[in-house]
Amino acid sequence: MLSPDKDPMGAAIADYFNRHKADKLRVFSSQFDEDEIPVKELFRTLREMPELEQTALRMAEGNILDVGAGSGCHALALQEMGKNVCAIDISPLSVGVMEKRGIKDVRQINLFDPHFLETFDTVIMLMNGSGIVGRLENLPAFFQKMKQLLRPGGCILMDSSDLRYLFEDEDGSFLIDLAGNYYGEIDFQMQYKDVKGDSFEWLYIDFQTLSLYAAENGFEAEIVREGEHYDYLARLYPKK
Ligand code: SAH
Repeated sequence: MLSPDKDPMGAAIADYFNRHKADKLRVFSSQFDEDEIPVKELFRTLREMPELEQTALRMAEGNILDVGAGSGCHALALQEMGKNVCAIDISPLSVGVMEKRGIKDVRQINLFDPHFLETFDTVIMLMNGSGIVGRLENLPAFFQKMKQLLRPGGCILMDSSDLRYLFEDEDGSFLIDLAGNYYGEIDFQMQYKDVKGDSFEWLYIDFQTLSLYAAENGFEAEIVREGEHYDYLARLYPKK
């Protein structure tokens, strides 16, 4: 769980919610140059969302869990569609904003908290939702958690990207160190104004690798839809 003094994304979300504008949300990584997340995009409406996200929201049914809900953009859209959603996030400041935005069931909780034991028909993880898993070696624990959380017939809708395009040369050769870590394991650190968070790991995963891990852990994986830039929406469900 994050503390408010180490919650830069939450600080940016709270600032944007209160003042309708925000400063830069800066993103650092040892693997890339400095970048920034446009805070306004964290407040995207259904119409402003990428096709992959809209598809996930249309498919979500029953009791829905939005993991890492952020500003609550997906949870709000689901509520407006008349669906039932529980939004969770480790960010206290984001949770505060979601409560103020009228999301009915919001909780500050870590997905991997062993005390979090409710069950859901659909689990959505969006905006490179696989990131929350952190690294490949955490996938077994992730699938174990999902077996506990999913009701019979339930599924996970998760988007991710294959980062291979960042490491591919123009001639198609691969510039990654095959003996090193998986190329989608990225470390990040964020800063908003003078609030700097701790560094964390975020997993981008190609569909083939995701399918392999899913199969090893008793899940089926299918691509629902591909995006425009090596991204895709996957549906994962326990094998019968
Ligand atoms: N889904 C939102 C926000 C994406 S940013 C959107 O599409 O706009 C990722 C969010 O996941 C952040 O708000 C972060 O605080 C939250 N998060 C990261 N790890 C988490 C975990 N283990 N459990 C719950 N939330 C988590």
